[in-house]
Amino acid sequence: IFISLEGPDGAGKSTVLQAILPDLQNKYGEIVATREPGGVRVAEEIRHVILNPKNTEIDAKSELLLFAAARRVHLQSKVEPALAEGKMVIADRYIDSSVAYQGFGRGLGLEVVEWLNDFATDGLKPDLTLYFDIDTEVALERIKKNRSEDIDRLDMERAEMHRKVRAGYLEIVKSEPERFVTIDASQPLEKVIADSLKVIIERF
Ligand code: C5P
Repeated sequence: IFISLEGPDGAGKSTVLQAILPDLQNKYGEIVATREPGGVRVAEEIRHVILNPKNTEIDAKSELLLFAAARRVHLQSKVEPALAEGKMVIADRYIDSSVAYQGFGRGLGLEVVEWLNDFATDGLKPDLTLYFDIDTEVALERIKKNRSEDIDRLDMERAEMHRKVRAGYLEIVKSEPERFVTIDASQPLEKVIADSLKVIIERF
């Protein structure tokens, strides 16, 4: 069983994943919890390259290609072997992040990103995707509170990008209603955690 967690920044995906793991492990045995970009050494190295603000020469297309390379390495060396052993794999971000961030957010368009996703993954899609939906204003407030970095200067740019990414996600979710379940991530964390657990347990 392959599950991905998606959503704009500040939705709390990573916190929720850590919180639901013990209960899931009790029910399903060993769970492989992983993240993108990253999850294995080579992909974590690519993550550092992409996310390093000093690397200003990385444009949207280079970024897309680096994410795709990290995705393939991660899939082949970690996700697929775990699935082959019958383990449940939960990935914090996967193909839909590229569609939302690079396709919609950075304006590269849906078609090229979907094609590249398919190329990088040989078409492997998650059995279930939890989409953590959060309003841009609420998310930015949370990010400001939780992270010490000074983001005031970037606020405008960030809000604009966040809005585009969220709009992108809402489109993707609409296009594949059988794969996605939307979680209202603006609720208190305890409720978001409970809802997420419930969705997975009811489905599998
Ligand atoms: O999931 P996480 O918050 O750790 O992602 C790290 C950063 O990478 C985030 O700020 C996210 O906005 C960005 N990202 C991106 N394009 C993707 C995936 C993540 O810009 N396809």
